[in-house]
Amino acid sequence: MLPLNFATNRRGNYRILCLGAHSDDIEIGCGGSILQLLQRHRNLDFHWVVFSSGHKREREARRSAGLFLRGAAKENVVVHDFRNGYFPSVLSDIKDYFEELKAEISPDIIFTHTRHDLHQDHRALNQLTWNTWRNHVILEYEIPKYDGDLGTPNFYIPFDRKIGARKIKYLMDCFGTQRDKHWFTPDTFHGLMRIRGIEANSEGGLAEGFYARKVVLGG
Ligand SMILES: [Zn+2]
Repeated sequence: MLPLNFATNRRGNYRILCLGAHSDDIEIGCGGSILQLLQRHRNLDFHWVVFSSGHKREREARRSAGLFLRGAAKENVVVHDFRNGYFPSVLSDIKDYFEELKAEISPDIIFTHTRHDLHQDHRALNQLTWNTWRNHVILEYEIPKYDGDLGTPNFYIPFDRKIGARKIKYLMDCFGTQRDKHWFTPDTFHGLMRIRGIEANSEGGLAEGFYARKVVLGG
């Protein structure tokens, strides 16, 4: 996986930071990739941050993170309660938290929302991610939605149908509060992973797509 070589005996574990505006965003955007990485590598520390939750959704987020992060060397799950839908108006508070996070962790990979996501909360986190980390690999994940903002990713993490099925099962099992949303269905999640799998020429049939807007390969 460019530009990191997970096969080498790196001193210490790799650190992966996952950022999601709402309780299910990380799982929808990069849940399959996380399961795939954890299936292949034991030396991964995860820092998982959800920015908006509410009581019920916090429980869902924590349960889901527990399932997705099984096998992680370390996991740190943080759930905030910034007001859903209003991130641009509380941006300075969220930025303060990003500054804390920057002092705490220097991740090898950051998973975050895409710059062109049409949900204002998602976009706000993308902006703060790029403001905060300048020498890091940032992979921007996609979230299907009513607004129709999917594009053509340029970075893929392929995986097989078993991983895809686990992602879908965990999503459907954990996020009871989302099940009445007309788009929150197994076929939505499978369909997008299948299309990205075609684009990635995935042997296992599925993939998740990302935007790697800028990647610096150290000399
Ligand atoms: Zn969201």
